[in-house]
Amino acid sequence: MKIAIIGVGSVGSAVATAVQNTGLAQEIVLFDRDGIRARAAAEDLGHASAFSFDIKISAVSTYRSIRGSEIVIIAAGANQKPGETRNDLLHRNADVISDIIPKVMENIDAKNVKIIVLTNPLDVMVMLAQKLSRLPANRVIGTGTMLDSARFKIILSRQLGISTRSITSYVLGEHGDSSVINWSAVNIGGIALDDFCKQAKISLPQTTRKTIEHRVRNAAYEIIKGRGATWDGIGAAVADLLYAIVNDEKRILTVSTVDGIGKNAVAMSLPRVIGNKGVIMNLRSKTTVDESNELRKSAKVIRKNFDLL
Ligand code: NAD
Repeated sequence: MKIAIIGVGSVGSAVATAVQNTGLAQEIVLFDRDGIRARAAAEDLGHASAFSFDIKISAVSTYRSIRGSEIVIIAAGANQKPGETRNDLLHRNADVISDIIPKVMENIDAKNVKIIVLTNPLDVMVMLAQKLSRLPANRVIGTGTMLDSARFKIILSRQLGISTRSITSYVLGEHGDSSVINWSAVNIGGIALDDFCKQAKISLPQTTRKTIEHRVRNAAYEIIKGRGATWDGIGAAVADLLYAIVNDEKRILTVSTVDGIGKNAVAMSLPRVIGNKGVIMNLRSKTTVDESNELRKSAKVIRKNFDLL
């Protein structure tokens, strides 16, 4: 399988490394408007392949060379500087997506390709990419809150002393400041969170829950403060999404795709079943009235930003 990665900065390089380590691709092509950067990344990754899988990795200077790619990953665009929100990137990155998508579409097989969007503000960029590509919504997929859900799960794991592999926990809505922490759907080995806490004699009061929510929503800001950008987590998330797609796993992941039509259309993260056709089922998680209201607010934030474009 051939995979194209557009944008080979911190995120694109980490994604390329993670994709390479899955062993799922036979060929990875890297495109960046900064050709020198793309060539250097291809060279470095090429050396790494001697220690992992025999994969052909090359930098390409024209979109013609992405032909034959079954999956195109968009990691191009401005990232947040300390203090900036994802939505502050709206207009800059809308220009980037508007530049890239038509060129991608001229060169790939629209009947089969899946586009994975990473550029922020994620959900709005998914909507724009879907509109410009005219692909069915289920094949334009944003990693959405996969990373936020992972952060939530890791914090819960540490708090409860239980392996992440026994925890189901979702963050829904915007991959951004209005994300919704779906407490009511958390289960630990199939046991509802409150019941688990009772059995394990663990107290998880509202104050602790609020602190956890804050840590989940602020994780990226903290990482950006410390190392300038985030890349390892998203690299691993993309690799996980690729496993689900390529192996037709029919796994449930909180990814972002466009739901609804016309003025009601919005892309945000919900639990969705992923297989080799992309998103094959959209699910509604268990939510309280408050969580449903938060989700509606989150959808409004995303739609409002899309309408500004
Ligand atoms: P970066 O500045 O390190 O790299 C961005 C790259 O995009 C650069 O190499 C640049 O030359 C390239 N680029 C810009 N415009 C382009 C164009 N029109 N065509 C081709 N290439 C172009 O930034 P980064 O840290 O890698 O972040 C990239 C994006 O990923 C940002 O929008 C960031 O917010 C986002 N991100 C998303 C998640 C997520 O969970 N979805 C996580 C981290 C970062």
